[in-house]
Amino acid sequence: MLKCTRCGKEYDERFILRCGCGGTLLVERNYFDFFGNLQPYLDMRRYINFLPISGSLLPPATPAITPVSELNLETVTAIFKLEYLQPSGSFKDRGTWVTVSKLLEEGIDEVAIDSSGNAALSLALYSLPANINVHVFLSYDARPEKISLLQRLGAVLHFIDGDRMKVHERAVEFSESEGITYASHWLNPYFIEGTKTAAFEAYEQVGVPDYVFAPTGSGTLLLGLWKGFFELRKMGVVSEIPRLIAVQASGYESLCERSPIQNLLADGIAIPEPPRREEMKRALQETGGTCVSVDEYETENALKWLRKAGFLVEPTSAVVLAALWELVETGEIPDGSKILLPLTGSGLKLTQGI
Ligand SMILES: [Zn+2]
Repeated sequence: MLKCTRCGKEYDERFILRCGCGGTLLVERNYFDFFGNLQPYLDMRRYINFLPISGSLLPPATPAITPVSELNLETVTAIFKLEYLQPSGSFKDRGTWVTVSKLLEEGIDEVAIDSSGNAALSLALYSLPANINVHVFLSYDARPEKISLLQRLGAVLHFIDGDRMKVHERAVEFSESEGITYASHWLNPYFIEGTKTAAFEAYEQVGVPDYVFAPTGSGTLLLGLWKGFFELRKMGVVSEIPRLIAVQASGYESLCERSPIQNLLADGIAIPEPPRREEMKRALQETGGTCVSVDEYETENALKWLRKAGFLVEPTSAVVLAALWELVETGEIPDGSKILLPLTGSGLKLTQGI
């Protein structure tokens, strides 16, 4: 079932994004016997028994189980998870794969989404073989390379004059007035079901890390990781849940104190008022985590370090490393800690810039 995160009201598992009270929804199911229910695939189908889809209508490109690379950094062990190696070049494919499967099961063939790039690209890619028409709302300053790719994937583009929140509002208005399903990853409970598999994988690969850092704008990765580790604990697989660290772009913080100077490099998390903010706060509180704000200069340094180390990612992905440096330097992370750092988006989509 779907359950409202605000009032607790329950709904059948249809493609709805909000409760009547305005609260956001999450899928709630009781899972058991994690190892007994894993499927014999070395891709995301491995976790199909823990997802709210039947498995009968899956998009053909299946998200990968992404590799992890362990490096000793300062006094801690950094475990980079290479999420940028997914078919569309970002972790978003996990959520999209479950979403498109659910849309197919519901017979929905036209959707709208707002995005700074990666979420829309992912949805457009997986919707193409599924014959789902995708309307993408984006601002004029979206990266040109991503716009070009979206066009080639057949998305119908709607450019909006305004910031990321304005783009979101216009996509919602359009969906309501045209009677088209709004499939935003910000609200979509099925998207978070997909991103939670990153926690399942990480657990199978490296056990339970002490900390998990996630670039955090709308919070879809942070909340997926939280839900994934939470479900593992509920199934009795693990006893501890890692501390979650939400890494935000300066000037766009929704969990940390808002800085006056904007980090324009980390455009993927430039979301000042995410609808799942209360859930994110709860995830940090329940795991003893915190939020860290990263500015443009720190983002650029971390990006260059990652590139030199062999990780070709986009600037938004680099914020987790900048945050790690900061917390190690201030002594907030004890020596010897194991830290999971998902590297979320590919640098191959960016042909210009730093
Ligand atoms: Zn409600």
